[in-house]
Amino acid sequence: SLPTIYVITPTYARLVQKAELTRLSQTFLHVPNLHWIVVEDSPHKTPLVSDLLFKSGLTYTHLHMLTAKDRKLQEGDPSWLKPRGVEQRNEALRWLREDRRVQPGGDRQQGVVYFADDDNTYSVQIFEEMRSTQRVSVWPVGLVGGMKFESPVVEGGKVVRFHTGWRPSRPFPMDMAGFSVSLKLVLANPEACFDGEAPMGFLESSFLQGLVTMDELEPKADNCSKVLVWHTRTEKPKMKREEALQAQGLGSDPAVEV
Ligand code: UDP
Ligand code: MN
Repeated sequence: SLPTIYVITPTYARLVQKAELTRLSQTFLHVPNLHWIVVEDSPHKTPLVSDLLFKSGLTYTHLHMLTAKDRKLQEGDPSWLKPRGVEQRNEALRWLREDRRVQPGGDRQQGVVYFADDDNTYSVQIFEEMRSTQRVSVWPVGLVGGMKFESPVVEGGKVVRFHTGWRPSRPFPMDMAGFSVSLKLVLANPEACFDGEAPMGFLESSFLQGLVTMDELEPKADNCSKVLVWHTRTEKPKMKREEALQAQGLGSDPAVEV
């Protein structure tokens, strides 16, 4: 049978959250054998996300893990100051190791792990590319790092370096959206996780370092020549008119979930 793809998505409450999760869930509906692990950055599971998941038609696991206050980006902080989604991704890894630990070597360990932020754009094709992951698969990511795309550079079927605009000397200068890991490798390395204290740009490396070497990376998407995932970012909606109307008691009905 097709290996299951475990897609890990950190998410947090904000005006665009339902729109992001709707777009994502409807992409995932086109992918067979996908198990969505959604980890809310909140002190409890929210009704909005619970409802959306229940109605989604997807196989899913719903978790929550609140980011510690001192680790959280504050309003007005530049977005590069602190990594986002770290504790949520680690919570999902913990769940996988706990839940999939039974039957070592058995069928339940057949799978692929992918970290999919809620605001990116995913082609259904990228999931078929990653499904054959033995250890760690890699591919280009569009619209990231101030570049049209960043990508592993492949020569003779092997990754030999990275096309990136910034610090190519990092162990794995890749975006979160640009790699997948086999479930077996995740389970065989119970200590591997994301280090929230890692210097800027080293979050992906902090996880991958203990798992693979550059030599072992499996290039996908036609030897990393095709962009099948984009690091899109959603504009924060302006609520000027909403606030003005609210002041007159004419704001949008708060009972309507947006
Ligand atoms: N995220 C989160 N808590 C936060 C901020 C972000 O769980 O306080 C999630 C967000 O929903 C996304 C991931 O972490 O799935 C990465 O965040 P974002 O897209 O803002 O990061 P960027 O694209 O700017 O690196
Ligand atoms: Mn993002």
